[in-house]
Amino acid sequence: MKTKSLVTLLPAFLFFLNLCLSSPVYGARVDLIVDHGVARDCETQARAVVNGVFDFFQKTYGIGLQRDIRIKFSCDKLNYQKAIQDWYGASASQASVVAHHTAGVQRRGDLIVDLGDINSDYKQLFVLCHEMVHFYQGQESQDRHGAIGWMLEGSADALAAHILETAGVKNASGFKNWWIKNLKKARELPSLENLHTHKGLMSACYTYGGRVTYATSALAVLTLVEWRGYPALFAYFQALKNSTPEDAFYQAFGAKVTDFEKQFRPF
Ligand SMILES: [Zn+2]
Repeated sequence: MKTKSLVTLLPAFLFFLNLCLSSPVYGARVDLIVDHGVARDCETQARAVVNGVFDFFQKTYGIGLQRDIRIKFSCDKLNYQKAIQDWYGASASQASVVAHHTAGVQRRGDLIVDLGDINSDYKQLFVLCHEMVHFYQGQESQDRHGAIGWMLEGSADALAAHILETAGVKNASGFKNWWIKNLKKARELPSLENLHTHKGLMSACYTYGGRVTYATSALAVLTLVEWRGYPALFAYFQALKNSTPEDAFYQAFGAKVTDFEKQFRPF
């Protein structure tokens, strides 16, 4: 089992979650709903990761849960699509498009991850971590987290990788090298400026591919982490509550976002 080490590290948290679902231990309510079809070991790993993420945010950023979170683990694409319809009020066709292109979604505390459709344990856990980072981005910025597209997605990927590495998940190391390798294989790369707006980021996913677009974003965020460390990432999201995105970026990283975007090269 690829993620056995994580499960070994976190049995206490797992027990804790089982005991404390729907209680205000974290300062907010946690509801975890698991489709019947999800394999038992898969569910165990995913539950451990959920707790690992709570723990990471508490220890690294001093941030607890202040907003209720509802998490659904679906067992296959069909159930994933149905959950998107039920939870977000999406039409069947909207939900079908989202389900086809994603393995996890998060909106205002409602998080759905399809554990059945990803055939690698580690990728499932990566998607789960990524979506949980979005949850915290939303909580801490009062839902202004999408202001700079590459910061939104790049920090979700960079932190998901960091959390999995910190938790000792096997095969979770070497993300940076893997991202660089992907970019070196690509014919053409987007500029960071193209990824500034969410719309620009989405259109880059069509033009350059999602993998290249997200890897560019994650490597840009890792550059910021090398400058200012992981704490600065959430200083930025917290600053978005009361500042413009440009000011929040400057406060957190001491640079103008436009200058950074112009100068950034992924390798
Ligand atoms: Zn995302």
